[in-house]
Amino acid sequence: MNKRLSGKKIAKEIFTRIKEDIELKKITPKLVILLIGNDPAAEYYVQNLEKKGTKTGIEVETIILDVTIGQHKLLEKIDALNNNAQVNAIMLQKPLPSHLDESEIVLRIDSNKDVDAFHPLNMGNLVLDKKGFIPATPAAVLELLKFNEIETNGKHIVIVGRSDIVGKPLANLLLRKSDTGNATVTVCHSRTKDLAFHTKQADILIAAIGKPLFIKADMVRDDTIVIDVGVNQIKDVEKGYRYVGDVDYEACFEKASAITPVPGGIGTITTAMLLNNVLLAYKMQNKI
Ligand code: NAP
Repeated sequence: MNKRLSGKKIAKEIFTRIKEDIELKKITPKLVILLIGNDPAAEYYVQNLEKKGTKTGIEVETIILDVTIGQHKLLEKIDALNNNAQVNAIMLQKPLPSHLDESEIVLRIDSNKDVDAFHPLNMGNLVLDKKGFIPATPAAVLELLKFNEIETNGKHIVIVGRSDIVGKPLANLLLRKSDTGNATVTVCHSRTKDLAFHTKQADILIAAIGKPLFIKADMVRDDTIVIDVGVNQIKDVEKGYRYVGDVDYEACFEKASAITPVPGGIGTITTAMLLNNVLLAYKMQNKI
C-alpha cells in the first residue's frame, strides 16, 4: 500500500467500467442536477460530474435555479422530473437556501431516481443492509478501502462528522457484516468531549467535518490510516483560492501509515460512484 492513498487510479477504473457497460448495452442514462444558487464547492462538483458524464456516456443536464425559488415551484420541478421517463436520476445539490423545507423536498424525489440516497427509503435500506443506492461519498470511502486492501474487520474506525450525507451512512456501512465492514465504529461530532482522545484511538481515522486543516498531527496516533473526506476552499496568494481537506495533510503525513490527499483523494472517487448510481438507476428502471 502506498503511503499517499490517491483516488485517481480507482476513479479511472470505475469510469472505464461504467463506459464499457454503457457501450455494451447501447444505452444513455440521464442525470438531472438541480443547482440552487452559486455555492462554489457545489459548482465545482457539478462541473466535474458534467465533464465525466460526457466521457462515460451519461447525459448530465444541470438546471440552475434562482436562490429565491419557492418551495412550491421547486416541488413542481421535481414532480415533472419524477414523471419524465427519459430522466433516470435526479440530484438536488446541497446546501439548500434556508427558506426551503429540505425534508419535504427529499421525500418528494422518486426513491428510484434518488442517486444521492437521501430518501428515507434508501437510507433505511442502507441501514438494514438491503439492496439499493449507497450515497456516493461513503461508497467512495469503501472503494478506497477495497482497492488498497485495508482491513476493517475488528478495527477501530473513528469518524469525525455525523451528517446524513457522510458520517451516518458511512458508520452504518462500516458496521455491516461485510468485507469492508465488521469494524468497531466511533462517531464524533461538535459536542464530543476531548475529540483528540477519540481520534488517537483510531486504527482508521475518517474526517468529514467541513473545517479546513482541522485535524492536526497531535490528534493522530502513529501508524493510523487517515481518510480525509473534507473539501474546503481557502484563499491562496498566487491562485486566489485552492482546495484543502479537513486534515492538515503535511503535518499528519509523517505520523500516518497512509493518508488520502485533497484534492485527488475521496472526492475524485465520489464523482465516479455518483455516476455509477446513475447507471444503477437506469438498470433498475429498465430491469436490465
Ligand atoms: P456537515 O453536514 O456540515 O457536517 C459536519 C460534521 O462535522 C457535523 O456532524 C458536525 O457536528 C461535525 N463538526 C463540526 N465541527 C466540529 C468540531 N469542531 N469537532 C467535531 N466535529 C465537528 O458536513 P458534510 O456535508 O458531512 O461534509 C463534511 C466535509 O466533507 C465538508 O468539507 C464537505 O465539503 C466534504 N464533502 C466531501 C465530499 C466528497 O465527495 N469528497 C462529499 C460530501 C462532503 P454536529 O453534527 O454536532 O454539528
